[in-house]
Amino acid sequence: MKVDGRDDLELRLDRIDGKGYRAYKDLAGAYDMGDFCLYIDHVQGDPFAAPSKIRMRVPQSLAAIPRKWFSTPIRRMALEDFLGRAVAAVIDDFHTRRGSSKSGQITVDAGGQEVFERTTMVLRETWVEVRLQVGLPASGRRVLGRQARELLCNDLARIAQKALHWQALDTERATHFVCCIENGEAIRNELRGRGLIAFIADGSILPRRSGVNKQPLTGAVPFVSPPTWRVSFRLPNPLTDGRQELQGMGIPAGVTLIVGGGYHGKSTLLQALEQGVYPQIPGDGREYVVTVPEAVKIRAEDGRRVVRTDISAFIDNLPLGRDTTRFCSEDASGSTSQAANIVEAVEVGARCLLLDEDTSATNFMIRDARMQTLVHKQGEPITPFVDRVRDLYTEQDVSSVIVMGGSGDYFDVADHLIQMRNYQAEDSTAEAKRICNALPTGRRAEAAALAGAPSPRCPIAASLNASRGRREVKIDVRARDHLLFGEQSIELSGVTQILHSSQTRAIGYALYLAVSRFMDDTTDMSTICKSIEALLDREGLDVLDPFHRDEKHPGNFARPRHFEIAAAMNRLRTLRIQ
Ligand code: ADP
Ligand code: MG
Repeated sequence: MKVDGRDDLELRLDRIDGKGYRAYKDLAGAYDMGDFCLYIDHVQGDPFAAPSKIRMRVPQSLAAIPRKWFSTPIRRMALEDFLGRAVAAVIDDFHTRRGSSKSGQITVDAGGQEVFERTTMVLRETWVEVRLQVGLPASGRRVLGRQARELLCNDLARIAQKALHWQALDTERATHFVCCIENGEAIRNELRGRGLIAFIADGSILPRRSGVNKQPLTGAVPFVSPPTWRVSFRLPNPLTDGRQELQGMGIPAGVTLIVGGGYHGKSTLLQALEQGVYPQIPGDGREYVVTVPEAVKIRAEDGRRVVRTDISAFIDNLPLGRDTTRFCSEDASGSTSQAANIVEAVEVGARCLLLDEDTSATNFMIRDARMQTLVHKQGEPITPFVDRVRDLYTEQDVSSVIVMGGSGDYFDVADHLIQMRNYQAEDSTAEAKRICNALPTGRRAEAAALAGAPSPRCPIAASLNASRGRREVKIDVRARDHLLFGEQSIELSGVTQILHSSQTRAIGYALYLAVSRFMDDTTDMSTICKSIEALLDREGLDVLDPFHRDEKHPGNFARPRHFEIAAAMNRLRTLRIQ
C-alpha cells in the first residue's frame, strides 16, 4: 500500500476545505504521521451517514508494550480489551471538554462489564493498532478542513500517546487486568476435570445496580460458599492481597436446584452463572464467577419459529397427530419453544442448561399428582422437564441448574439443592431428601425411555440469504437483540447470552460466512458450528468481514459463542432443513 506523508494529508485538507462533503473521499489512503500510521479506510458519503472508518497503528518502538503481557491468546485478548478501554477513556475526555456533536466525534467499540475478543484492537510484536470511527467535521454539508486537521492530526496523536504508549498507561492496572482474566480462564479450564460446572468465589458481588446498569450493586451482601461445596483453586497469578488461591462454591455436575423464598437472590445467582461463560472486568464483582463455556440459558420464547426440531422427548401426541420428531411452527407456544431451545442447544454441544422459573413455561416444568389424575397422560402431550432432567444428565452428560421456588416436585430428581436465604447460599440437599421421604409427591414419572439423541439437522444453504436489493450482503444490527440479515429480521430477545450489539453483528456475518464456506445441505448444525469456531480461532475476527482484504477496518465485531450463532440461525424465518 502506498503511504503518503503527513504533509500530503494536510495539503489535501486545505484543498477541500469549504467544498462539498463528498470531497472528503479524497482522503482515503495511508499516511505516515510520524508517531503513527493513519489509515483512512472508508470515508462516509455525507455528514449523517455511518461514520468514517479509520485505523491508527503505532510501532512498538514507541508503544513499547512488553511482549510477555500478550504472549498467549488469553493474555492478548485481555490486553487488547484493556487498551480499547484506555482509548475510550481518552476519547471520553475530549468529548466532555468539547460537547458531543456527531460531526467531529471519535468513537471506539470498547466493552462494558464483559471482556470479549474484539476487532477494536490488534496487538502485534511490531505494532499496535486501534480501529476507530470518526464523524468527519462538517458545517451543513461543507467540509470543515481545519477541524478535520485538528481531529486527524492532533486528537489521534493524543490518543496514541495517552492510551497506546505503555509508559503513559497505568501499567499496574493493565497487568492486574490481564492477570485477573488469566486467572478466571485457568479456573474455567479446570472446572470439568474437577467435576464442576461453575465456581463462585467467596466475596463475589452478584446483584447489579439495575436492569439497565450492569455495574455491581453497592451495599450488596457478598457471596459466601456453603462449607459442603467449598472448593479452592490455585491461580496462575496472585491476587492483589498476595493470595494465590481462591475459595468459593463449586457447583458439581448433575442436577442442581436453586430454591428459596421470593426476592432472596435466586435469579441473581442464576444470572451470574449465565454471564460466567464470559470473563468480567476486575471490580465487576463477578470476575471470579466462572461457568463452563458450554452453559446455555434456556427459556420459554413463545412466538419463535421452530423448524424440523425433534422435540418428541418433551412433547408428543399433539392434537391432529402433528409430528413432533420434526416439529415445525411459525409461532411456537411457551412449552414447545422451551423444548426446542433445549434440543437445539444440546444439538450444538450444550453441557449445562440454566433455567429460571421466572422465564419458563409452567406446564413445561411441572405436572403434579392432582393434574396427572385429572388429565391423563394420553390427553397431555407434554412430558415435563422434571421427568427428563435426570436422563439428560445420565444419558447425555448434560447438567442442569434450575431456579425453582414454586414446586417441591423437583426435590426427587435433584442431586444438589442450593437454598438462597437472605442472599446467602445454604446446602439444603439433606433436608430436601428427608422431605422427599416424609412427603412423597404421589406423582408418577411419565417419561418413556429416551430413544437416543435426536438426529442431526442439516440446514439448506439457499435458505439463508444475506442479500437485499442490489447488495449481495446486507447485514445490520438494530440492537443487541435485533439482527437484520438480508431482508429478514431475526428476533433475539430470547437469546440472553448475547451481551453486546457487536456480538450480534458478528453473528450476522458468521451466518453469512457459514453459508459461503461451510454449508452444503449435508453438513449438520454442530459441524458447521465447529468449523466457524475453528476458523475464528485460527484467523481472528477480521475474517468475518466479507469484503476483508488485508489491511482494512473490518467493522466492529465482538466474538459470539457458536451457541448464539446457532440460535440466530434457528430463529431465521426462512431457514429450511434438509
Ligand atoms: P428471587 O429470584 O429469589 O426472587 P432476585 O434474584 O430477583 O430474587 O433478587 C431480588 C432482589 O434482591 C433484586 O433486586 C436483587 O438485585 C437483590 N439482590 C440479589 N442478591 C443480592 C445480594 N447479594 N445483596 C443485596 N441484594 C441482592
Ligand atoms: Mg426470581
